[in-house]
Amino acid sequence: MHKYIFSYPTSLDHYTADAFVVRCFDNRFWSVFHKCIKAQGLKHIDLESVAGGAKIFSSPEQEGDRDFMLRELEKSIKLHHTKKIMLFTHHDCGAYGGFGTFENNTEQEFAFHTEEHRKATAAIRGRFPDLPVESYFMDEQGIVGIS
Ligand SMILES: [Zn+2]
Repeated sequence: MHKYIFSYPTSLDHYTADAFVVRCFDNRFWSVFHKCIKAQGLKHIDLESVAGGAKIFSSPEQEGDRDFMLRELEKSIKLHHTKKIMLFTHHDCGAYGGFGTFENNTEQEFAFHTEEHRKATAAIRGRFPDLPVESYFMDEQGIVGIS
């Protein structure tokens, strides 16, 4: 028998993913992210936490990184009939060099992230033209939708 280090039941029922979600692993933004997902009534999400979040689509460190995440998305759609993708980036992200990269200017930082989301969306649409893409930016006050 297995020797459990923790006991807790898990349902093995299959599910449809409300969204495939890509966020930065920066733990400072975990609470606001998690509360927002709950508040939007999303029950099942396929979650990817990678440095920079949506950056992996817009400005990947290596070209293969973007392809990896596109394949992850492909599997999510195949296995869980995923309805949409939600992309997150955030203020003071270390993957972009922190707030200092933008001379501590919030407008400049937000404009940059808006452009990053535009690029990320284009990369996803190139492979999945019919999948709705939503873009979000998180800061210390909450989450902003980018359209
Ligand atoms: Zn980050």
